[in-house]
Amino acid sequence: MEALIEKNNELIRNSEARIRTLVETIPLGLLITTTAGAIESASPACLQYFGCTYGDLHGRNVRDLFIFDDSSVPDLGSLVSQRARDVMARRRDGSQFPASVRVGSFAGTSPGLLIVVEDVTAKHELEQMKQEFLSMMTHDLRTPLTSIKCFLELIVEGVYEARQDELKKRSKSIGNDTGRLINMITSMLNLHKLESGRLQLSVEVIAVQSLVNQSVESVLSYAESRSIALEVRLPAETILVSADESYTVQVLVNLLSNAIKFSPKGSTVTVFANFTNDFVKLMVSDNGRGIPKEFQSRLFNRFEQARLSDSRVEGGSGLGLAISKAIVEEQGGTIGVESEPGQGCNFWFTMRREMPD
Ligand code: ADP
Repeated sequence: MEALIEKNNELIRNSEARIRTLVETIPLGLLITTTAGAIESASPACLQYFGCTYGDLHGRNVRDLFIFDDSSVPDLGSLVSQRARDVMARRRDGSQFPASVRVGSFAGTSPGLLIVVEDVTAKHELEQMKQEFLSMMTHDLRTPLTSIKCFLELIVEGVYEARQDELKKRSKSIGNDTGRLINMITSMLNLHKLESGRLQLSVEVIAVQSLVNQSVESVLSYAESRSIALEVRLPAETILVSADESYTVQVLVNLLSNAIKFSPKGSTVTVFANFTNDFVKLMVSDNGRGIPKEFQSRLFNRFEQARLSDSRVEGGSGLGLAISKAIVEEQGGTIGVESEPGQGCNFWFTMRREMPD
């Protein structure tokens, strides 16, 4: 009899150890609460999700951890279901994360609830990127491709046979569209490589003056075509930085082109620099429409455009600033913008300063 009890106890101990290992290793947050929602135990993943210690959670009501859409907090019993529900969860420091929550119940002599929590931030980000990509595909790729297709059909039908001048003119503009599509795909690939650390920059010591001169030169005719004056205000002494020459010129050209693009005819775009012993800050300032405050932090995300009509009207892709950010950060700098709506923008980025030997 005793041997049987001992054998049963051992079975129970083994089973308990297995359940403990399962709870400790499963990458899901598990909470056990009373039927009223008072937390009795929490798995390590759960403590990590909420940035809490076990002591922080024990005894608290599980409802405090989640924000339900409707202001009336639902009865927990009514949430018992096989189906997961998406809610926002609140960390100890007050920040929030999207979570998928499933509630199960324990019957028997000590009834309670099992709440399974999954942090779905990564899933949400992926979904958002998919949406951005799809809207970019529809907006920036489908439209020019459709016009290229229509143009080719008209040629096949012989519409341009007696109108060679018009054919040349249309071919040129379609050529520009095609160039823009290729640039955009190249940009996307570069951005992907930069973000995954696969694009090696070749950083060297170079004079800021040289970076600025090359960039200004490459946007000179664009500025002229829009009657914008370019002013360069740099110190006479040579200032050295460590940077990848061609990628940094790409960043500056992007900031300058944007400044020219969004400036009123006849105005001036200025490039100037501030520096400390460690950093050089290059700034591009314009007198254009400026950027609404609520967009300023999002501008450096992919495909982000302050106004939806921008790419149709101005022919951009919303990728330029995302690539600039990736390049600047890869070189150990930061990038940002200061702007009062209606009063222009001041885009800036920093590079590490090098002292002459
Ligand atoms: P693109 O110019 O190709 O659309 P960017 O990433 O370079 O992409 O810029 C994203 C958006 O930021 C632009 O579409 C525009 O709405 C806004 N923006 C950038 N620079 C300026 C500027 N100097 N003035 C006003 N808006 C700007």
